[in-house]
Amino acid sequence: MTSETSSLYDLQISHPNEEKFRTIVESVPNGIIMVDVTGNIVISNSEAEKMFLYEKNELIGQKVEVLVRSRTVHPNLREQFLMAPQKRQMGAGRDLMGQRKDGSEVPVEIGLNPIRLGDHTFVLATIVDITERKRVEAKLKRAYEEVQQKNVEMEQFVYTVSHDLKAPLVTSISFLGFLREDLQENKMDEVMDSLDRLEKAHKRMQGLINDLLELSRVGRMGLQLETLDLREELEIIVDDFSDRLAAKYIKVEISPDMPTILGDRKRVHQVFENLINNAIKYGATTAHPRIEVSWKDAGTETLICVRDFGAGIDRQFHQKIFGLFQRLHADSEGTGVGLAIVSRIMQFHGGRAWVESEPGQGSQFWVAFPKMMAQVDTRRIGS
Ligand code: ADP
Repeated sequence: MTSETSSLYDLQISHPNEEKFRTIVESVPNGIIMVDVTGNIVISNSEAEKMFLYEKNELIGQKVEVLVRSRTVHPNLREQFLMAPQKRQMGAGRDLMGQRKDGSEVPVEIGLNPIRLGDHTFVLATIVDITERKRVEAKLKRAYEEVQQKNVEMEQFVYTVSHDLKAPLVTSISFLGFLREDLQENKMDEVMDSLDRLEKAHKRMQGLINDLLELSRVGRMGLQLETLDLREELEIIVDDFSDRLAAKYIKVEISPDMPTILGDRKRVHQVFENLINNAIKYGATTAHPRIEVSWKDAGTETLICVRDFGAGIDRQFHQKIFGLFQRLHADSEGTGVGLAIVSRIMQFHGGRAWVESEPGQGSQFWVAFPKMMAQVDTRRIGS
């Protein structure tokens, strides 16, 4: 202790209200320390000691700088405060970090109050641990950012849906006009052609609406989890594609030792239906097209891979194709919703979906299923 600190003690000890003062300081639910003009701590309550991990009275005689490493407690600033003392917030408007004895940090808010005791001026600092407030603030900020992001996605969604639904409608209206003229002139070949185009445009609209409804259902229906033998499930899925596989001479090889996973049967089917459908559409470009389904154990997750040996995908599109309406093959049949459904289903399973591919090297579409029930999100959106 410095001589000045000792003299303060003498002063306080002789003060008739000393004990009352200490009892009040001790009973306050916030941390309190009192510092003399040289920055020595002369009083600390147990709340402050607990907050900064010090033993009882261990802070007495230490410099206040051991508690808050910030420019705010630079000795010059402390002197300035003591020369023009008034109640104020320390480090107002910016994050103040307290320094604990073990070197860890704690976010704090510090209020400074000058006090005069006899001829001496001291600074009484009330310290509040704002860890919880910071946590809630960070959570609110994240939620706000998520809502902002959702708004942007929603705008994009409305724009694309209206554009993609409008295109077949515009086509239909034109062909209805042609149809009327051709019927009046009895041009039956042209009538048939217009009817074909009308049918195609309507099927496209129907496909898009069905896919969008499916996508929205993924979030709303909640998951019915069960243990699924993937080999059995994949055989059922592949069987449904047998006509298209035969037509393109595509061989499908499923690893004989496929694992079991925890999943919602209908949703898991949708994931593999989409991946296999894409492998048929985009991956059967070689002379002897092949689709491989294999797996890897990755500790807490089971990884399943659907691989094709087609044209592959440039790295810059690897993430993008999982977004809604993102298509690299605009001329082929499809709506650009399939991989968005895959990604969403996997998210609800607490898992992930991604692609590994190089142009000319085929594509490996991976999905990761968590092994533990606790990792799976079985909520219904909005409930
Ligand atoms: P869709 O097939 O209806 O267009 P998806 O969301 O399933 O929509 O796929 C998005 C895009 O990703 C496709 O349009 C295609 O360009 C690309 N893609 C998907 N799977 C493959 C694949 N196996 N090989 C190459 N490109 C693919």
